[in-house]
Amino acid sequence: MDKIKKRFHWKGKVVSEKVYNLRLKQQKLGQKLKRRRVFNPYEFGKQMFCKLCENLLSILVVTHEEEVALGSILHISCQKCNFSNKITTDKQHYTPSFGFTQLNKFLAAMNLSTMSWDIFKSTQKEITPVIEKMTYASCSKATEEEKTLTISNPEELRKLL
Ligand SMILES: [Zn+2]
Repeated sequence: MDKIKKRFHWKGKVVSEKVYNLRLKQQKLGQKLKRRRVFNPYEFGKQMFCKLCENLLSILVVTHEEEVALGSILHISCQKCNFSNKITTDKQHYTPSFGFTQLNKFLAAMNLSTMSWDIFKSTQKEITPVIEKMTYASCSKATEEEKTLTISNPEELRKLL
């Protein structure tokens, strides 16, 4: 067996294997957290208390992120009791889904052949990312329109405030 210990480097410094793996994990998590997602600050803020000890949670202690449609479920460790809290970035996640039963009832009513579960699931997998992209595009367009209207109507805005 080769007894020479492998050396690990992080940003030009020699680090232990444990530190190297931790930095790698943090980097991957950091890259993942850069993904755009639906974020509702009010709903998010309401959940920022530990479910076990009610301690205020910190967004800097995200240990894991589950991607759920356009939003996310963030796993945030409590700094007081270490409980892993699951915090959603939005009140509800919009999963573009069509009910299998509903679709088949509709197809039957239209006198069309119904769809098997496997085909339904594979089609849904193909369509979902497209619908999500369209939703993003639509949301971005609406935001731009709102921005333009706000800039072009400062008088109207002043009246409202
Ligand atoms: Zn806690």
